[in-house]
Amino acid sequence: MSLDLSCLTCASAARAVAAGKMTATELTEAALAAVAARDPGVGAFLEVHAERALRRASEIDASPEARQAPLAGVPVALKDNLCLRGQRTTAGSRMLAPFSAPYTASAVARLEVNGAICIGKTNLDEFAMGSSTENSAFKLTVNPHDPSRVPGGSSGGSAAAVASGQVLGALGSDTGGSIRQPASFCGLVGLKPTYGRVSRYGLVAFASSLDQVGPMGRTVDDVALLLSAIAGHDPNDSTTADEPVPDYRSLVTDDPGSLKLGIPRDWLDAGLNAEVRGAVEDVLARLEGAGARIEAIDLPHERYAIATYYIIATAEASSNLARYDGVRYGARAENPRDLADMYSKTRSEGFGAEVKRRILLGTFLLSEGYYEAYYGRAQRVRTLIRQDFETAFTKVDAIVGPTSPTTAFPLGEKADDPLAMYLSDVYTVTANLAGLPAVSVPCGNDADGLPIGLQVIGKPFDEARILQVARMVEDLRAATTRSSP
Ligand code: GLN
Repeated sequence: MSLDLSCLTCASAARAVAAGKMTATELTEAALAAVAARDPGVGAFLEVHAERALRRASEIDASPEARQAPLAGVPVALKDNLCLRGQRTTAGSRMLAPFSAPYTASAVARLEVNGAICIGKTNLDEFAMGSSTENSAFKLTVNPHDPSRVPGGSSGGSAAAVASGQVLGALGSDTGGSIRQPASFCGLVGLKPTYGRVSRYGLVAFASSLDQVGPMGRTVDDVALLLSAIAGHDPNDSTTADEPVPDYRSLVTDDPGSLKLGIPRDWLDAGLNAEVRGAVEDVLARLEGAGARIEAIDLPHERYAIATYYIIATAEASSNLARYDGVRYGARAENPRDLADMYSKTRSEGFGAEVKRRILLGTFLLSEGYYEAYYGRAQRVRTLIRQDFETAFTKVDAIVGPTSPTTAFPLGEKADDPLAMYLSDVYTVTANLAGLPAVSVPCGNDADGLPIGLQVIGKPFDEARILQVARMVEDLRAATTRSSP
């Protein structure tokens, strides 16, 4: 029987490799065995790179220097909108089914330089558009806590792969909540970095002013470790910031001192599932007990966030997805009558319903006569939302609240109701609009045992602080679990 990954974290596995107690090959074999045993029931992976992973593991095992790397031998999964040279990168779309990436995404390259082993590519909503992973053109992924429920989305495959113990960490992307919401549905820690903290080079673009690549893991410590590996300036992405990258892992254990946390006044109102509210209130009370000051704050323009997000995201998506025309990338329809028919057939056959809905909406919003009324106005509201946060952050160190209004919902429940699906992003899209870092950390379970996530939003480039708060939540929970009968 090979090693059981469920007993390990990224940090403990890398430590064991560095100390010569475990090999990268053993860890990789354990991950591949877990994928073979568990993934048929979960559906997290679109592709597994067994041969490549084993080859890289043996390279690490052969090099005393490589064995000391911070993530040496750690098996990880990549959302399939991140390029890995020579491997298929589909973004969950038929349009990119034949596409093999000619280069590796910077965040992925940095994971590998730090010793991580990429086990494979995980399922997602097509082009990362969705909140349940049901919009994938290829397969269904289920929640490892209850296979009749969604894992969340759009990074649902990455979340399910970690939560089912097939890998120790994963990368996702978050445009409006796609790392945090699946992390919360699957009982994981997931972090969306500040816009510009992590390179988007090699990430299949959805909405370029909102997209960020970020880590998912089972512990705050692991997410801090993964973030330190992937963060930093990248000459290939001019939107990355030239800010120094701290050692997040050493910072998460620091005492945050006298913390002031803000809770937006209406975040715990109606609309929010009672059990989620209960769990969030409970953890806030315990944070207060541990010395944090909690105060209500106002984000007056927050109620426009969903509308603003879906205008900006669809407008940018319609422009980004114009490149899929049957000539430059991926699939091309067969037997077209002429050039126009080739474009039209390629796009009709290549895109799924949700992607088409967004392209149509975004194209309309950007069209002559409507641009100012919708896109222009949404940009101005976005500025107001950002200013609301700036004002709030003059009073508090971080903002806390639920990650999602519900726990994982049943498969199919919202599949035919796009508006209901969009509303599951109500607490997450604001951080993307304002470019702020935000993390989801498990804070409880509902009566069915489904995980509930607490979201912590921070000031720009203050990832260390939100990780410290997340770490406090993790410690408080561990203390309760230990003291309960
Ligand atoms: N669920 C949101 C959407 O459908 C967010 C997706 C994401 O963050 N990629 O747009």
